[in-house]
Amino acid sequence: MERPSGRTFTPRESVCPFCGVGCGVQYDPATGAARGWRGPVNTRGEVCPKGVAAFDVVDHEERLTRPLVREDDELVPATWEAALDRVATAFADALAVHGPESLAFFASSNCTNEENYLLAKLARALGTNTVDNCARLCHSSTVAAMRERFGAGAMTNTLVDIRETDALLVWGANPAVNHPIIFRSYLLPAIRDGATLIHVDPRETETTRVATHHLPVRPGYDIPLTNAMAAVVVEEGLTDETFLADRVSNVEAFRAFAEGVDVAATAELAGVDPDTLREAARAYAGADRAAMLTGMGTSQHHCGTDTVHALLNLALLTGNVGKRGAGVNPLRGQNNVQGAGDVGALPDVLPGYRRVTDPDARREVAAVWGFDPPAEPGLTEVEATHEFGESVHVAYVLGENPLVTEPNADRVREQFARLDCLVVQDLFLTETARVADVVLPGSAWAERGGTVTNTDRQVLRMRPNGDPPGDARRDLDILCAVGRRLTDLPFDYDGPEAVFEELRRVTPLYAGMSYDGIGTGSQRWPFPEGTSEGLAVLHRDRFASGRRRADLRIVDHVDPADGVDDDHLVLTTGRVLEHFNSGALTRRSGILVRLRPADALQIHPDDAADRGIADGDRVAVESARGAVTATADLTPAIRRGTVFSTFHFADPLVNRLTGDALDPVSRIPEYKHSAVRVAPADEGGP
Ligand code: SF4
Repeated sequence: MERPSGRTFTPRESVCPFCGVGCGVQYDPATGAARGWRGPVNTRGEVCPKGVAAFDVVDHEERLTRPLVREDDELVPATWEAALDRVATAFADALAVHGPESLAFFASSNCTNEENYLLAKLARALGTNTVDNCARLCHSSTVAAMRERFGAGAMTNTLVDIRETDALLVWGANPAVNHPIIFRSYLLPAIRDGATLIHVDPRETETTRVATHHLPVRPGYDIPLTNAMAAVVVEEGLTDETFLADRVSNVEAFRAFAEGVDVAATAELAGVDPDTLREAARAYAGADRAAMLTGMGTSQHHCGTDTVHALLNLALLTGNVGKRGAGVNPLRGQNNVQGAGDVGALPDVLPGYRRVTDPDARREVAAVWGFDPPAEPGLTEVEATHEFGESVHVAYVLGENPLVTEPNADRVREQFARLDCLVVQDLFLTETARVADVVLPGSAWAERGGTVTNTDRQVLRMRPNGDPPGDARRDLDILCAVGRRLTDLPFDYDGPEAVFEELRRVTPLYAGMSYDGIGTGSQRWPFPEGTSEGLAVLHRDRFASGRRRADLRIVDHVDPADGVDDDHLVLTTGRVLEHFNSGALTRRSGILVRLRPADALQIHPDDAADRGIADGDRVAVESARGAVTATADLTPAIRRGTVFSTFHFADPLVNRLTGDALDPVSRIPEYKHSAVRVAPADEGGP
């Protein structure tokens, strides 16, 4: 069907570009919008409002249709030849003057496995491991802890499993809003069948409405809460002794630690009622099968890795690992946040999470790539940004918008200005693209083929419904063209299937898969060569680490990076149903943008009264890093002392307030606890 723009589209089964659920969507000629098809996850073809609006950005009038280059401080249209020449010159100059460590590559959790794989390979071909993706900012701590203890940084179980559970422990997540199809199609049926939901969140959200127990944890105090729950489990004899004897180590030391925890005092520190905490611990530990679902409320702390370690203790103590209807299940954010890591768009690992420091892994990859990848781990995303103008001089950003998504945004903007050259490959002139030196117009979800890997490890295929507009090109073609300019390698793949075939050879988790075999269904990792299907439940007889046992880990509370005095409130940030990530896509949707004001700051009525703030007032919000103006949204649904805002908007840019203290292991920033002062905007606010 031809549209007013003159472009034609044909419905073909693809995948929603937004969250990690991975719903099947395609163009609908009857409505000119997107519609669901019966995919492997949304088996009835259902989609949430974002899925319905997914086509809004594909044929949007603000799409970039020509490359842009900076001339006299302005971005002006250029030919592909001229734009790629600028890229090649900038990279060659930086390499000649400063060496490979002066280059940084930001891959994208919103691009396909094949696109991420090629960008990561390009970085390594140029001699650097400084390639990362925005999974760094959401669940890198989860992946770090789960990889270390269990051997795999991913959901231990499947979405289908959730329907079989007897208790759901949803921690730091709001799936009713952020993963709506998981909530409707998997969680709600389990609850209707009698499963108990325990919800841990500083706010009462849409998810809390179906919970039996709500623990409104004080932001930054998840470790004390977890330790107190573990103490109740030990004290009340709710441990799974058979599992502990067979599959767990360090049991007695942990038991002694748990026996020393003062449950009442620790509950008070975590900001929850001790009796409710006890009931929640009993509900989780007493269930035959209890599944934990975690979100960014657990991971986005400067002690995020330790927080996840503490949660893993609960699952191990109660024997909720390695069986159906149980496990630890991080709900991933963007549609390919799992896959971007799987295929090696991370600074410390090659495809398949094999360490860059492992000579055997490097040798195996080199046999396919034809060159040796560098052995030194590179910089993570925020670390790289902090090095702009120091050790890093040129950056390539594929499909991400770090000027909005990274914490301490005023500092981020200053750092980007220090680069000799910034290349951005994207659909729109995003906040990051606006400060670039070269902008390469890429492809939207409905214009690309390739694979993405959803939150429960299912690899799904995208299919183009049409061509990119104007002179915009498919991202894979752009990356091949850049690869040919910057290296001596051929970068001559004949489409995404050819790249998938290669990445399969260097990614043991994907080795047994085939592009045809995925078809309109899915294949799940781990899927080793020579097997007929992927593994649904991980860690059954042995952990993915290869070990029979995982250890219980004693984890102590770490104070949040920001100190809080009586004047301060604690800002925590999160998502809303209608928007996604930096909002670069959803803010342009005519449907979605009307549904939600950008600048609401949820505040408890008592905290508002203390400050002379009424509902709907303009308020000034200020942290040690920066300040924004917002509109007060008074609600008792948020705990006292805490305020909440979304992070989807450039105005107000809430990440001007958040801090860049990093977790020592995963280097995830502390998004979930920022000390802020809130006052009526007319009293000297920003
Ligand atoms: Fe898209 Fe996620 Fe909504 Fe499914 S639940 S339609 S994947 S945003």
